[in-house]
Amino acid sequence: MVDGGYPTPRQRRFQDCCGGSTRRWDRNCRYERSPVVGPEAVIGMDAQTKQFLDLTSVQCCVCEADNAEPVGLGNDFEYRTSSDTFVAMRCRSCGLIYLNPRPSVSEFPRIYPPNYHAFGFSEREFGLAYRVRSRLEAKRLSGWCRGLPDDARILDVGCGDGFHLRLLRGFGNSRWTLVGVDIDKRAVEMARRTGLHVRLGSVDDIDLPRDHYDLALMIQTIEHVENPVEALRSVRRLLRPGSRLIIVTDNTDSLDFKLFKDSYWGGYHFPRHWNLFNRDSLARLAEKAGFEVDDISTQVSPVNWVYSIHNALVDRETPQWLIDRFTLRSIVSLSAFTALDIVLQRLGKGGLLRAILRRPEEDQTQTANGALQQPALAELGGVRGASTRP
Ligand SMILES: [Zn+2]
Repeated sequence: MVDGGYPTPRQRRFQDCCGGSTRRWDRNCRYERSPVVGPEAVIGMDAQTKQFLDLTSVQCCVCEADNAEPVGLGNDFEYRTSSDTFVAMRCRSCGLIYLNPRPSVSEFPRIYPPNYHAFGFSEREFGLAYRVRSRLEAKRLSGWCRGLPDDARILDVGCGDGFHLRLLRGFGNSRWTLVGVDIDKRAVEMARRTGLHVRLGSVDDIDLPRDHYDLALMIQTIEHVENPVEALRSVRRLLRPGSRLIIVTDNTDSLDFKLFKDSYWGGYHFPRHWNLFNRDSLARLAEKAGFEVDDISTQVSPVNWVYSIHNALVDRETPQWLIDRFTLRSIVSLSAFTALDIVLQRLGKGGLLRAILRRPEEDQTQTANGALQQPALAELGGVRGASTRP
């Protein structure tokens, strides 16, 4: 309790959720919407109802089981798009952490507000942080592009405002064909304004050529998608057999997760990250979608450290000047946690997971006349059928 006996916002939410207990939620509490507390409570039923999102219940997308326990509880600390309290569940079978229940797809315009960072990550807005990240990401991209042919075709799934495609255009071969896909109209418009070729829609639905791309990227995308298995299967069909897909996503086997998982972990990004992985659950997802796993390792990122602290400060109603020291614009905190994460990454515990997956050479989905020739065993239920993993 804070001075005067009033609960802090965090205590209030635990009490709302667990009928007074602040600690029983992690074993016994199922999701329950927290009532509006404070001035908002008197604004009338219609307005109050609109503060909550339409939610839908889901199960583990990897094992398709409903055998999970709550591991974290929190609000939309970053954008305050609703009054809902969200629960992160951990699948007991595969270790996947997933938001359940989660917003309906129809709520996307609300949970991705106009000021969402992926819609406008620019040098003008983010200054030095943008320049440093651009150099780092360009170096990573150039490594993944090594060995591509002069006329390579590269697909960026969930390209946002086209940040990575612009880097590829900047340092890559001028003959490369760069194509982006994103489901958000605003992001697509921003990317197109910079001259990029970006398609609006889901990779599952857009009519793109099969067996066509030499490299696909899903950089901090898989955690946002509605159906990760179907998304990966769609990408697999678009790649040429033998070509690679690079996935970068938050790592739940990290020190920042262990320290902040109860509520504030930046990787939860409540309520926009729907599925969060460790090495094992990401490998299982890849195999289920018919990919071979070349490598899964970790890479350095300060972002979840910075946002874990940001979220804790927001929830404790700390002064804004201090909260502002822990954002994507805060070069000091980003630098400090980069240094820490470099050490952790060398121990195999970096902030992000990076998977290099490959469409099997023998995975031919179509003959010349378009008939199905050899559908991947994974699509017929053979999860490990196309994999080289033991
Ligand atoms: Zn599972």
